[in-house]
Amino acid sequence: MASQTISPLSAPAAPDGERRAIRNVIDGEHVDGVRTFPKINPVDGTVIADVHEAGREHVDRAVAAARTALDGPWGRMSTADRARLMRRAADMIDRRSAELVAAEVGDTGKPVALARDLDVARASANFRSFADTGSAAGLDSYLTELPDGRKALNYAVRKPLGVVAVIVPWNLPLLLLTWKLAPALISGNTVVIKPSEDTPSSATLLAEILLEAGVPAGVVNVVHGFGPDSAGEMLTTHPGIDGVTFTGESSTGSAIMRAVAPRVRPVSFELGGKNAAVVFADADLDAAIAGLARSTYLNTGQVCLCTERIYVERSVFADVADGLAEQANRLRLGRPENPATTTGPLISRTHRDKVLSYYELAIEEGAELLAGGGIPTLGDGLDDGSWIQPTLWTGLDNTSRTVREEVFGPAAALIPFDSEDEAVALANDTEYGLAAVTWTSDLSRGHRVAQRMRVGMSWVNTWYLRDLRSPFGGTGLSGIGREGGMHSMAFYTEPTNVCVQL
Ligand code: NAD
Repeated sequence: MASQTISPLSAPAAPDGERRAIRNVIDGEHVDGVRTFPKINPVDGTVIADVHEAGREHVDRAVAAARTALDGPWGRMSTADRARLMRRAADMIDRRSAELVAAEVGDTGKPVALARDLDVARASANFRSFADTGSAAGLDSYLTELPDGRKALNYAVRKPLGVVAVIVPWNLPLLLLTWKLAPALISGNTVVIKPSEDTPSSATLLAEILLEAGVPAGVVNVVHGFGPDSAGEMLTTHPGIDGVTFTGESSTGSAIMRAVAPRVRPVSFELGGKNAAVVFADADLDAAIAGLARSTYLNTGQVCLCTERIYVERSVFADVADGLAEQANRLRLGRPENPATTTGPLISRTHRDKVLSYYELAIEEGAELLAGGGIPTLGDGLDDGSWIQPTLWTGLDNTSRTVREEVFGPAAALIPFDSEDEAVALANDTEYGLAAVTWTSDLSRGHRVAQRMRVGMSWVNTWYLRDLRSPFGGTGLSGIGREGGMHSMAFYTEPTNVCVQL
């Protein structure tokens, strides 16, 4: 296996005229794969890098390196020292923000400001937040009184889960990766990361940053490739893995669950959504329309929390429909570096084909278009990219597939309702259970409806406002377990109860 020691400050640059190579990072070294696959820029369809796909021997070597690192100095390092390393890594992420933004924008085509203010800003915040949470995590202890008057001291020590497989998607690559990596590392685990085949760059760069920050070789390994019959499946079926944390599609979560079932390993799943927003007639409609535009179209609708179903009280239905259609039509598609751009392309042509098939299905199901509905013509060399129009439908109801299945694109259906009970019933009429938003100026109704939503996260008069200590995750098809603060720590640690009779 060819390998190359990582140069401390940068990934190997491509000589002029050659494409960049993105290699696996195993035991502190860049490692060539069994073959390469092209990384395509979704903005204009050009190939921007060759990604080295890991084979079985690479996955074996990465898991072995993680095991050795777990049993070595990393496993013995104090939480305070790990927290110091993580704060240093956070500072380095901020210092090298431009490089990480370039990696994220190159892979996804999202606007530069979005990559900077959401993805990369959250990456350093994730490390700082878990450095704090991990430092504050105490022991559970109880003095148990026995019937004969004696006492027993019970306490629980929390040990790392072990070698954790971290499998992440392409929509917020660095944000979602660090959201898992930070609690895994502060708890003393070692990891093998499988980034999405569509976004290999930022995970590779982050692994280098962590090495430079002083995280020992082997603690963070990155293997590139696909899911089935590739690095993803090789990792989840590997006997050396102690747990799997995964964010991605519900059907992939189900496949991973089957893959780990024979060895009964713990899983943490953040999966798909078909999120509802409910707008009551008493809401501040300007704020609601602006909020809906953000929750429907942010990141070209490619956030698991994005709204795809909008239920509006009948008396204000026309106002909300007009206002939101106007906002959708005002979005600016274009090059990521143009400050006027609000909306990037979809991640790939494959994903665009899927989203477009829902645009066609919606019309077959009787939808009326209020905005978008197809592929834009942008010129400027962009037409080989994977662009799609922000879209808004009326005329559908909860029986249509467009309203039941996750589209994961910039599109939502507007549906009227007549009562609070009906709104809650419509919002909860889904197999998914990730997020919901309630727009109302009645405080009691806001609390009441938010609590009745069968979801993991229920916002009132806002969306995607996060405190990193609060629980994040979903019910039903949307996942298993919660992340955030102590919820993450619970997954990445195994408690051992020690009972001493005094
Ligand atoms: P995906 O499930 O296709 O892929 C996610 C990752 O899993 C990739 O790295 C992929 O290579 C890998 N993978 C695929 N099949 C695998 C297998 N059989 N075994 C092991 N690994 C496998 O998801 P995606 O298309 O990259 O991401 C979009 C999906 O992610 C959407 O459904 C979205 O809702 C969901 N998502 C959820 C959250 C959340 O927090 N709930 C956040 C972001 C995205």
